[in-house]
Amino acid sequence: MTTPLWNKKVKCPFCQFEFETTRMRSSVIKIKEKMTDFGNIYDGECAYFYAVTVCPQCTFAALNKDFDSIRADYEPKVVEATKKIRQANVKRPDIFTLGHLTPEATAKRHELAIAFTKMRTYSELGALAGLYMHLVWIYRLSGNREKERTAMTDAVKAYQEFHEKGADLPEKLGEPGVLYLIGELYRRLGQFKEARTYYGRALASKEINLYPAIAEMTRDMMLAAKKAMGEAETA
Ligand SMILES: [Zn+2]
Repeated sequence: MTTPLWNKKVKCPFCQFEFETTRMRSSVIKIKEKMTDFGNIYDGECAYFYAVTVCPQCTFAALNKDFDSIRADYEPKVVEATKKIRQANVKRPDIFTLGHLTPEATAKRHELAIAFTKMRTYSELGALAGLYMHLVWIYRLSGNREKERTAMTDAVKAYQEFHEKGADLPEKLGEPGVLYLIGELYRRLGQFKEARTYYGRALASKEINLYPAIAEMTRDMMLAAKKAMGEAETA
């Protein structure tokens, strides 16, 4: 049987340090359940935990595919920040162990990746929103309700900005999926009025016919929000 985790040798694009990082084999990922905000519950290791690579030397962090492909010559702000971190002899956070990661460590790795994504030259709104969603799921799966809520609030803002400015919405979701997801985050935050507004916008999207599964989910959750709103009023 293949083990789900393996160590990959990588080179930091900013400080050239060579190190190993743990990744998860996509062939062994087993989804047990799908959540209504597109997150998965996994059987065994959780794929989100291993989605970010962090350099132990300069702490540069990014989603794995971005870490492997980012060009340092396009990113003056990141160059500057990683240089400062290297020079300052500060103690690095304890998040560089190989193998199985704790929810706390992977959350910190994601927070670093978020900080560096915000420094990118071209705004990476999709990557940013995706990182916040990972945080939402990581906190939810580890039972940290308070931090899950904070991450959901950040994710809502990131997806709203992504929808307003982002030309390339993820093909898998399209405009209806992104609007539905914003609605779904609002519903989970207990903001039912906003949730229904966004579900309505998803259903009114020109692309809705291309996404029948999302249309169905939107109608289901619209009803759930309506019901929850009624219950809140009569309570
Ligand atoms: Zn580095």
